Amino acid sequence: MISSIEAITLENEFGAHNYHPLPVVLAKGEGVFVWDPEGKKYFDFLSAYSAVNQGHCHPVITQALVGQSHTLTLTSRAFYNSVLGEYEKYITEYFGFDKVLPMNTGAEGVETAIKICRKWAYEKRGIDENKAQIIVCENNFHGRTTTVISFSNDTDAKKNFGPYTPGFIKIPYNNLEALKEALKEPNVAGFLVEPIQGEAGVVVPDNNFIKEATELCNQANILFIADEIQTGIARTGGLLAVCGDCTCLSHCERQASYTKPDILILGKALSGGSYPVSAVLADNEIMEVIKPGQHGSTYGGNPLACKVAMAALDVVKKEKLAQNARTLGKLFREEMNQLVADFDLFVKVRGKGLLNAVVINDTPDSDTAWRFCIALKDNGLLAKPTHGNIIRFAPPLVMTEEQLMECVGIIRKTASEF
Ligand SMILES: *Cc1c(COP(=O)(O)O)cnc(C)c1O
Repeated sequence: MISSIEAITLENEFGAHNYHPLPVVLAKGEGVFVWDPEGKKYFDFLSAYSAVNQGHCHPVITQALVGQSHTLTLTSRAFYNSVLGEYEKYITEYFGFDKVLPMNTGAEGVETAIKICRKWAYEKRGIDENKAQIIVCENNFHGRTTTVISFSNDTDAKKNFGPYTPGFIKIPYNNLEALKEALKEPNVAGFLVEPIQGEAGVVVPDNNFIKEATELCNQANILFIADEIQTGIARTGGLLAVCGDCTCLSHCERQASYTKPDILILGKALSGGSYPVSAVLADNEIMEVIKPGQHGSTYGGNPLACKVAMAALDVVKKEKLAQNARTLGKLFREEMNQLVADFDLFVKVRGKGLLNAVVINDTPDSDTAWRFCIALKDNGLLAKPTHGNIIRFAPPLVMTEEQLMECVGIIRKTASEF
């Protein structure tokens, strides 16, 4: 087996430097654990940015992947395949939409939603061609493509990648007044938003924000587009973050807190980390604007992806991962609040379900959060700073209460030594 030093040296020499990883090499994963080549074991508290909600190498998902890979992997959409229709029925019933458009990565899902929204605006709303505007939020993260970074306000993500795609209005997050004002602008076609801003540092909006924003969009007859690539699929304690306080594991519209987006974007945990699978869901009157030849992807909807996604979604239901995220999340924040009280290092903890973050008591440009993550790594827990002085804590949802308490112990020990 390659050593950690060798693996890091190879990446540094032959890979583009578009990431700045924590100096740890992962060679194996199982459930909530990962191991480096030297055999040291760690708790994974990032879960590949919430792609591995079901835990590393979940046997049911692995079996689906391996099984289908012996049978048929890719046909392209030039032909029908024997799994796609079954998957489309499965996922649309699972989330309560008429139709799905399958893609591969999250950013592609967002691009797809933007294209659908614009086309809907011209063909169903009569907005003048090339004039449609989509409202987005400050500090958003929706991916890395040229159009998506055009409405980012992260300088690293954006600088020297212009010229940028026009047609976006940016408003502050969690601000209904700003949304109302923006809706008065001409040619508004949609509102694209993360129900909780993950990359921005797990920013949880006010309780009524999503529900009222949806209602404002409905009144204005524009599309409410929820990017649940990170928050969806049980991470925040419900099936989706837009489920609000509804704890049921199936799609339902009876609960008062549920708000149905016009377009729902999923990715990451849709495959449980085994394969890139993303999806855009909408009802017929929206999805029907897409006709043959107008959008697609060679790998989108391939039989391997379809089998993997069905297995990954099955695991979420069978293992009650949403409930577990809810219960453990509450416990985690209680425990972390104790640490916030005990250590000056921590300012506060925030989050929902098992998507949480701790704000470190230092300036955003300090390296305190980074150094604390290195210390956590040395003590056997992997987490990564986001936006300088914030550390995201998002373990796989298959964690047990006992394991979570062990992790809180590691964080406490690390803080006391720091
Ligand atoms: C990760 C993420 C994306 C982009 O997904 P990729 O698979 O990395 O392209 C988009 N939106 C949100 C909210 C994300 O967390």
